[in-house]
Amino acid sequence: MPLIEFTNKGLYCPQGNFYIDPWQAVDFAVITHGHSDHARWGSKKYLCHTDTKPILQLRLGENNYQTIGWNEPVFVNGVSISLFPAGHIIGSAQVRVEYKGEVWVFTGDYKIEDDGISTAYEPVKCHTFITESTFGLPIYKWQPQQQIFDEMKSWIAGNVAKEKASVFIAYSLGKAQRILKPLAETGIPIYAHGAVYNMHTTLQGAGWALPQINKITTDTKKEVLKNCIVIAPSSAEGSPWMKRFSPYATGICSGWMQVRGNVRRKNADAGFALSDHCDWDGLLSAVKATGAEKVYATHGFQATFSRYLNELGIEAGEVKTEYGAPPPPEEGIADPDNFDG
Ligand SMILES: [Zn+2]
Ligand SMILES: [Zn+2]
Repeated sequence: MPLIEFTNKGLYCPQGNFYIDPWQAVDFAVITHGHSDHARWGSKKYLCHTDTKPILQLRLGENNYQTIGWNEPVFVNGVSISLFPAGHIIGSAQVRVEYKGEVWVFTGDYKIEDDGISTAYEPVKCHTFITESTFGLPIYKWQPQQQIFDEMKSWIAGNVAKEKASVFIAYSLGKAQRILKPLAETGIPIYAHGAVYNMHTTLQGAGWALPQINKITTDTKKEVLKNCIVIAPSSAEGSPWMKRFSPYATGICSGWMQVRGNVRRKNADAGFALSDHCDWDGLLSAVKATGAEKVYATHGFQATFSRYLNELGIEAGEVKTEYGAPPPPEEGIADPDNFDG
């Protein structure tokens, strides 16, 4: 029997009797990171990295959580489970599973670029590699984050000149923390939607040094919001909640913004292609660095990516999972609302 099977509840290790990021409630769930498509409610026991626990407590409440640090194996029925940094968001881990000398690695979500907040991605040698491929199309090629941060800052300066507030639409876990440092460098006050603010205070409480932000409440005066910076999740976009910032411009921070049509489709004033996932070259370099004999691609453009690996002579197959939602296959675009892109 294979070390990891693909079941209708998610990735399953029969020898160790545990699931990884299951999409149904199970007895024992190993969790790669705190995004809601990977960390779901209802399992009896959770194993995650120490940095992920406060995020799960915020999102899933109190549960039976077991935590481990990087490369600190736990053993279940002879199976070694250990976590290695995935570089995706704070606490995000790849899961390494070993039994009788055979090693499988599941990436969860990951990116190669060191964002300065998430512990930097580390390649892990394995026989079988299960990789996400959210942006597994050659059109996806990220610019260095400093370049994108500079673009964000000049966009803010332009908005201030027009006496507009700058509203950044960013995922409340991951992207919001990542853009905070460059935004704080402008010296302009930063205001945050409640969802962003709650995650922020949770992470601060866990010891993360994050720049100061202000929570937007019904008492927040319209005058203080003039020319300010706002961070809000995509659920707030176009909602009446946004009216208080008028006049304002919106900029969406997501890898999906690399496709210009998406900026138009979302009626945004600007798109910043800042992603917490690998781009095409990142995926290829990660696959090669593992030395894996067999690769499974999941989560996104898995068909395109696995076909390309086969052309390179790397044995690869695709696996359907319920992480995120499948993007339309042809255009390379998707609804950024449904993704932690
Ligand atoms: Zn994620
Ligand atoms: Zn995901």
